[in-house]
Amino acid sequence: MTFSLHGQAVSGGIAIGRAHLVSHAILEVAHYQLRERDVAGEVGRFDKAVATAGAELDSLRAEASVPGAPAELSAFVNVHAMILADPTLTDGVRELIRERRCNAEWAMVQQMQLVVDQFDEFEDAYLRERKQDIVQVVERVLRVLQGKQRKLARRKAATGADDDLIVVANDLSPADTIQFKNLRIGGFVTDMGGSTSHTAIVARSLAIPAVVGMQYARPLIQDDDLLIVDGTRGVLIVDPDGGVLREYRLRKTELELDRTKLQRLVTGRSRTLDGEHVELHANIELPQDAERARDVGADGVGLFRTEFLFMNRDELPDEDEQFEAYRSVVKALGDKPVTIRTLDIGADKEARALRNRAGNRAAPNPALGLRAIRFCLAEPQLFLVQLRAILRASHYGKVRLLIPMLAHAQEIEQTLALIELARFQLREARQKFDAVAIGGMIEIPAAALALGPFLRRLDFLSIGTNDLIQYTLAIDRTDGAVAHLYDPLHPAVLKLMSQTIQSAQRVAMPVAVCGEMAGDPKLTRLLLGMGLREFSMHPSQLLEVKQQVMMADAAQLAARVARLLKLDEPEKISEQLEKL
Ligand code: PEP
Ligand code: MG
Repeated sequence: MTFSLHGQAVSGGIAIGRAHLVSHAILEVAHYQLRERDVAGEVGRFDKAVATAGAELDSLRAEASVPGAPAELSAFVNVHAMILADPTLTDGVRELIRERRCNAEWAMVQQMQLVVDQFDEFEDAYLRERKQDIVQVVERVLRVLQGKQRKLARRKAATGADDDLIVVANDLSPADTIQFKNLRIGGFVTDMGGSTSHTAIVARSLAIPAVVGMQYARPLIQDDDLLIVDGTRGVLIVDPDGGVLREYRLRKTELELDRTKLQRLVTGRSRTLDGEHVELHANIELPQDAERARDVGADGVGLFRTEFLFMNRDELPDEDEQFEAYRSVVKALGDKPVTIRTLDIGADKEARALRNRAGNRAAPNPALGLRAIRFCLAEPQLFLVQLRAILRASHYGKVRLLIPMLAHAQEIEQTLALIELARFQLREARQKFDAVAIGGMIEIPAAALALGPFLRRLDFLSIGTNDLIQYTLAIDRTDGAVAHLYDPLHPAVLKLMSQTIQSAQRVAMPVAVCGEMAGDPKLTRLLLGMGLREFSMHPSQLLEVKQQVMMADAAQLAARVARLLKLDEPEKISEQLEKL
C-alpha cells in the first residue's frame, strides 16, 4: 500500500531504493558494575525512563487520533503501550539491576533478549513478528536512558539503479552517520532530529538526500520496502506506484543534469558582477573529504571538524596519528589554507573513547555543558596533543587554527597560553612547525556582543551560525519538536551576524561564516549584502553558491540589505529577502 510521510528536509536530492531498518537496541550498550549504594538510584533512573517512554507513547496516541493520521499508527502505539506496561519486560530489568548490580541499559538489553528468544519459539507467525515491537519499545526506553545511539550495523549495499540502500532509523547520531562515508548509502530518514543537528550536517556533507523528524517512519516501514526519499521537499513515499516512480526517476535524472551543468563553474572565478572577489571554502569532517574540496575548486578548507576523527573507536588518536591526518589534508590543499578546528566534542557529538573524561557525565544540558573549548580546557593534556599535531602539520602548508565555542576573554587567554606551551614542547622535542593564524568561532551570542577580546587577541573570526541560532533563540538544534522555531532569519540572529562582520571589517580582521547558512544559495545574496566575503560550506553546495555570487551586484546588495536589517517583522524580512 502506498503512503507518504513528511518531515524536515535536511539534505536535498532524490533517492530511490530499498529500506534498511536500523535497530539500536541490539547493538552494544555499555555494561558497568554499580556500587551497592547506587542500586536503588539506578532502579529509580530506569523507572523514570519507563515513565517518560510511556508519556511519549501517550502523546503519540493523541496524534494518532487526528484525522488523516496513518491507521497503522494507532495500532502500533497501543501494542507498544501494552508491551511497556507488561511487567514481564520491566520487572525483569529491575530484578537484574538489583541482583547483578548492573546498569539499567545493560539489564534492559539482557531482558529483551530473554523475552525475544521466547517469541522465537511461537508457532504463530503473527506473534513471532511482535518481536520487532518489543525491540522498538526497548529502543524507546534506551533512548531515554542514554540519549544517544550506537554504532550502526553494517549492511552491504546492493548494486543496481533502484537498489540504493535507504537507512530508516529512529535516530542517528553524528557518529553513526559519519560511517555512511564508507558505505554505499543512497539516503536516510529518521524519526527524530532537527535541521542543523550534526546528523543533518553530515548528510549534507555526504550529499545524500535525507529527511529527519518523520516521527513514524521506523514503526511503519519494513525492511526492503521500496522507498522514495525527496530530500528537497522533506517527503518519504513508501511503496510508490508505477506512475509516481516514473515521475521521481525523471526528477532524479534532471537533478543530476543540473549538477553536471554546475561543474562548468569549477574553474570560473568567484567574483560578483561588480568585481568583488568572494572566497569560497569547504567544510570537511574527515581527511578523505579534502579531495572533494579540491574537486569543486574550493579556495581552501574553512572548517575541518576534527572531532569526527575521534568517533567510532575505543582509543584516542595519538599525536602522530592526528598529525598524519592533518598533514594529509594540508598537503592535498597545496598552497591553499586549511582551517583546522580543535575538538568540538559534546552536545550531540559523542566519542566513546572520551567517555571517561571530564565531559563524560550525564550533563543536565549537554549543549550548555562542558562542550568544545570548555572540554579541552578541562582536559589540557588531551588538548595539547591535538595542538601539537596541528602545529606540526603547519610545516607542510598553510594552517589556520580555529577555536570553537569561545565566550569568555579568559578562555581566549588560556587557549593562547596552551598554544604557546605546545610550541615550547615542540621546540624541546625538535619538531618543526610554522606560523599559524589563530581564530575564534563566533557562535555564542555573548561572543558576538562582546567582540573586543576576539578582535584584540585573535587573527580571524568564523561565525558558526548553527550554534549562534541555537543559543540566540534557545532552540535545541537537534530537537525536532522545536525545529519550526529554528529561524536563521530571526532579526536577532541577523543583527548579531551583521554586527560581527562589520566590527571585524572595521579593524581589517578576516571574517567568515562557516555554519549552514553559508551553504544555502537562497541566503548568499543576503550574506554578500552584509559585507561577507568569505563563505565556508560543504563541497556539495559550493558551486551553487558560486553561481549566486557570479550573478550578484555587491554594492547594490549592500544598500538593500542595510534596509532589510532595519526590519524586525519576520514577514517583511522574508519579503525583502525574496526581492534581493
Ligand atoms: C556552527 O555552529 O555553525 C558550526 C559551524 O559548528 P558546528 O556545526 O560543528 O557546531
Ligand atoms: Mg558550532
